[in-house]
Amino acid sequence: PMYPSGDIGLIGLAVMGQNLILNAADHGFTVVAYNRTVSKVDHFLENEAKGKSIIGAHSIQELVDNLKRPRRIILLVKAGDAVDAFINQLLPYLEKDDIIIDGGNSHFPDSNRRYDELKAKGIHFVGSGVSGGEEGARYGPSLMPGGAEEAWPHIKDIFQSIAAKSDGEPCCDWVGPAGSGHYVKMVHNGIEYGDMQLITEAYDILKRVGGFTNKEIGDVFAKWNKGVLDSFLIDITKDILYYDDVDGTPLLEKILDSAGQKGTGKWTAINALDLGIPLSLVGEAVFARCLSSIKQERIAASKVLPGPTIPKDAIKDRQQFVDDLEQALYASKIISYAQGFMLIREAAKEYGWKLNYPSIALMWRGGCIIRSVFLGEITSAYKANPELENLLFNDFFKNAIIKAQDGWRNTIALTTKYGIPTPAFSTALAFYDGYRSEQLPANLLQAQRDYFGAHTFRVLPQFASENLPADTPI
Ligand code: NAP
Repeated sequence: PMYPSGDIGLIGLAVMGQNLILNAADHGFTVVAYNRTVSKVDHFLENEAKGKSIIGAHSIQELVDNLKRPRRIILLVKAGDAVDAFINQLLPYLEKDDIIIDGGNSHFPDSNRRYDELKAKGIHFVGSGVSGGEEGARYGPSLMPGGAEEAWPHIKDIFQSIAAKSDGEPCCDWVGPAGSGHYVKMVHNGIEYGDMQLITEAYDILKRVGGFTNKEIGDVFAKWNKGVLDSFLIDITKDILYYDDVDGTPLLEKILDSAGQKGTGKWTAINALDLGIPLSLVGEAVFARCLSSIKQERIAASKVLPGPTIPKDAIKDRQQFVDDLEQALYASKIISYAQGFMLIREAAKEYGWKLNYPSIALMWRGGCIIRSVFLGEITSAYKANPELENLLFNDFFKNAIIKAQDGWRNTIALTTKYGIPTPAFSTALAFYDGYRSEQLPANLLQAQRDYFGAHTFRVLPQFASENLPADTPI
C-alpha cells in the first residue's frame, strides 16, 4: 500500500503474541500480524482477530509493506535462535531508523549483542521485558523496555497505552541502554522465584508446625492479602489452597512436590555471583527447587535421617504464631527486594548503564507476577531518593524491619527447633544480621587465606604501625 496503515507489526502468534495484538488493537492501534507457520495468521484473523484493526501478513515483505515509518516490529517468539533468525530475515527489508523490539524472555547478553549489531546497521533495537503471562498480555502487562533510546519516543505511546496501570500511571517506562530492559526482567523473575519460595515456606510451617488445614491456611492468606502482603502471588495462593478436586479433597495435596524451572532464576543467581552481590534469597530459592526435584533421594533419606518430632501442641498461641509468620514473610520479602536492587545498582555500575530506579519499581507495581502494594512503597522510597544506597536505609522499610524482627526470629527459632526447612526465611535473616554487623569474622578468613596462600591482609587503620603495615603476611 502507498499509505500503509499499520502502527506496529508483531511476529509470533503464540499465546503472548496474540494477546498483545488484541490488547493493542483494543487501544486503537492497527497491528500487522505475522508468524513463521503462516497458517496461524489466517486462523487468527478468522477467529480471535475478526472485526478488529488487525492486518494479516503472509510474508516478511507483506508485513514490512503494511507498516508506517519508522517501522516498529515486535518479536514475541521463543527466546534464542528464533529471535536472530527473524532479525536476519527482517534486515533486508528495513531502512535506517526502523525499530525492532524483542519482547521475549531473552537473556540480556544476547540483547546487548543484538543492540550493538543492529546499531551498526542503523536499526534501533529495543529489548523489552514483558511480564504478566497470558492475562497480562491481553489486559495490561508490565513492560520493561531498554536499548536504543532513539526508539522510545516512537513506541512510548503504544507501550504505555497497552501496559498495566497503577493509580493511573502506566507500569512501563524507559529502563536504560542496551540489554538493560531484559536485565531488569531477569531480576524480576529472580525475585519472583524468591517470593514464591517464601510463600511455600509459610504454607509448610502452617501445615506442619501449626497443623492447619488447607482451608485454614487459605483463610490466613486471604487475611494477609488485605494487609502489608497484599499481592498477586498471595492472592492466587489463597485460591489454590481453597481449591478442591472432584472428590472434595484439596487438589494441592495431590501435586508432586518436585519443582520445575525454565532458568531465569538461575541466570539471576549466576549474575549475582559474577557481580559479587549477596543475592542470597533468590539463590536459595533456586536451590530449593533443585532440592525438591531429587524426590527419590529425599524419599530414601526420609527413611534413615531422623529429625525432631513435632508435638501436637507445638503452637501455644495460634494468633501469635500466624502474626509472627506474617512478619517473617514481610521482613524476608523486604530483604529480597533490597538484595535485588543492590544487584541492579551493581549491574548499572558494571555495565555502564544509567537506570531509572523509581520507574523500575513502578513497572513491577502492576501487571506482572510480583505485583503488590509493597512495590508502591518501593516506588515512593526511590522517588524520595533516587540514589538510595539500600532499601533498608529508607525509613519506611527500616521501621518495618524493626517492627517485624521479633516475629521473624520467633518463626525461624520455631522451624529450626522442629526441623522444618526455611531456606529463604533463614537466609534473609542471616543477610540482615550480616549486613548490620560492623564486625564480621572475615578477619579470621583473611588470616587463613594468608596462612596457606600468602594472600596478605590489611589491618584495621587504628592498628596500622611499622611492624604491622597495611599488607602483612603472618
Ligand atoms: P513460545 O512458545 O515461547 O514461542 C512460540 C512462538 O515462537 C511461535 O510463534 C513459534 O512459531 C515461534 N518460534 C519458535 N521457534 C521458532 C524458530 N526457530 N523460528 C521462528 N519462529 C519460532 O510462545 P509464548 O509462550 O507466547 O512466548 C513468547 C515469548 O514471550 C517467549 O520468549 C517467552 O519466554 C516470553 N514470555 C512468555 C510468557 C508466558 O507467560 N507465556 C510471559 C512472559 C514472556 P510457530 O507457530 O511457527 O511454531
